[in-house]
Amino acid sequence: MIDPPLERLKERLYLSVPHMGGSELNYVRDAFDTNWLSTVGPNLTALEREVEALVGCSAAALSSGTAGLHLALRLVGVGEDDEVVTPTLSFAASANAIRYLGGVPVFLDSDHATWNMDPNLLESFLKKRAASNRLPKAVMVVHLFGQPAAMREIQQLCDRYALPLVEDAAESLGALYEGKHPGALADVGVYSFNGNKMITGTTGGMLVSPNGDWVAKARSWSSQALDPDPEGVSNYVHSELGYSYGMSNVVAGIVRGQLEVLDQRVTQRRRVFERYVQGLESLPEWQPQPEASRCRHSRWLSCFLLDESRSSITAYDVMRFLAALNVESRPVWRPMHLQPLYQRFEVVGGEVAEQLNRCGICLPSSSSMSAELQSFVVEAVKQASKTRLTLMEQS
Ligand SMILES: *Cc1c(COP(=O)(O)O)cnc(C)c1O
Repeated sequence: MIDPPLERLKERLYLSVPHMGGSELNYVRDAFDTNWLSTVGPNLTALEREVEALVGCSAAALSSGTAGLHLALRLVGVGEDDEVVTPTLSFAASANAIRYLGGVPVFLDSDHATWNMDPNLLESFLKKRAASNRLPKAVMVVHLFGQPAAMREIQQLCDRYALPLVEDAAESLGALYEGKHPGALADVGVYSFNGNKMITGTTGGMLVSPNGDWVAKARSWSSQALDPDPEGVSNYVHSELGYSYGMSNVVAGIVRGQLEVLDQRVTQRRRVFERYVQGLESLPEWQPQPEASRCRHSRWLSCFLLDESRSSITAYDVMRFLAALNVESRPVWRPMHLQPLYQRFEVVGGEVAEQLNRCGICLPSSSSMSAELQSFVVEAVKQASKTRLTLMEQS
């Protein structure tokens, strides 16, 4: 029995789309009504307080997550030629922020349990570097796809060698590590409100840290680093290099509305993931991304890994099949050590990240996706798996 071929969707099904909660426009309207239409205003102040209450750290609202990473790395002292250890498996924004400061990324492989930075590899790397007196300047973890990295082990290593620890939590707002918020577990962390993340302000980011002075410093850098005004006439004095990295009070209004539904969005994305797990149960060659112990994975994206030894098709075949049906899917991030931009930098290991990139797939994961559309995707993955098999059997 051959299933009838699926018909191409009329409207493209995207990987992750914005999902408004309802009160965003009220906050935006307040901004217009009160003419707070710049990078200061009541929504900004309130949003920072709300994020602080959520994660238990000081917070500064910014124009993007990438801007936040740039400032976070500068806060921990990264400068020209300083090495920063970071996972090779991430989005380019993580490593780019190191380069903005003239720093030098050292790429570490992932582990199979979390898909994030392998703490055992970090341990042997730091041990070797300490022996030759060449410790890096800092470590930056990434909580990929909403899966918290092994923070306890990594923090212990950073403590042992007195290294600052930065968290790229752009993808993981709403996740939990031992009941706490990744991003707010180490020296400084960053969230993103870009349009395809857990929640969105259409754009935007947030830097958080238990060090209030650092957050104040980041806020000052983000708005052109003005010194205190000695003459009281805004005759600007600059002693430090600043940026235009502030969040708009309009964007802050959108994020405030979104923050109210964050828990709901996590629940919905986790439900999407569970439905995939059930739907693909009959295809044992597809393994879901595991959930690390003592963690709540936010399931920003639902990721699966194809067991090559049990499959006659590749993950890329399936992605092309889905694309033909107007369904967006993506490989797990292309490792940085394979990027033209970064292949000249040191990489420690890399085989796990390469395998995750080659065999991993991110399926449409929007919190607003209907069960019917999701069934369509499941059916498409099943047909993709079968189609090729049938062709092979015939030949
Ligand atoms: C999205 C993302 C960023 C960048 O966030 P923006 O707000 O888009 O600048 C950084 N790191 C990772 C891992 C991301 O996924």
